[in-house]
Amino acid sequence: MEIIDISRGLSDSLAPWPGDTAFHFQLNWKMAEGATVNVGKFGMGVHNGTHVDAPFHFDPDGETIEQLALEAFVGPAVVMDLTETLAKGMREISVTDLESIAAELRDAPRLLLKTGAWRDSRIFPKEIPVISAAVPPWLQARGVKLLGLDLPSVDPIDSKELSNHHLLAAAGITIVESLDLSEVQGGHYHFAALPLKIEDADAAPARAILWRS
Ligand SMILES: [Zn+2]
Repeated sequence: MEIIDISRGLSDSLAPWPGDTAFHFQLNWKMAEGATVNVGKFGMGVHNGTHVDAPFHFDPDGETIEQLALEAFVGPAVVMDLTETLAKGMREISVTDLESIAAELRDAPRLLLKTGAWRDSRIFPKEIPVISAAVPPWLQARGVKLLGLDLPSVDPIDSKELSNHHLLAAAGITIVESLDLSEVQGGHYHFAALPLKIEDADAAPARAILWRS
């Protein structure tokens, strides 16, 4: 079984959300300096790198990350490659763009959108394509439980209302952000991305993978 890693690497060069705490790792104990073992530590804002958003991120009464049911995070998924469509110009991702995979989502109720709009993890994107407000209810009607994308947000970078976050939560759809889908073609896969069990957290990093049986 070949596993495709669709996680962004966590490193000090990963661009954080503007103003948020950047990822940092260092060795506290170093064998090179005589310690018996290497022991590292890291710090980060929890929205750095590939991660899952909990409703508590945008709703003070929402579930925190360890409270989310894990079923959504493992199972069949459809990768939709919108790279060419969006290369013609930044615009909303509409229901029309997704129509062609409507039937596939019935058997694979996890949708991963490959936009190709964030290629270099060291540079935070200024502008990203976002889904239209009609997309979350359309996905819900097709039984979709999870939406993943290769972007740091499902809303515009400068959004204050986070309306797509709210619409997706209302539709019962969990959000996985900042995937790396650059090496993945569109189609059917098995998907897994389990958020770390950080208690009371608004999000958590996840190692996201795809495989085919
Ligand atoms: Zn997030």
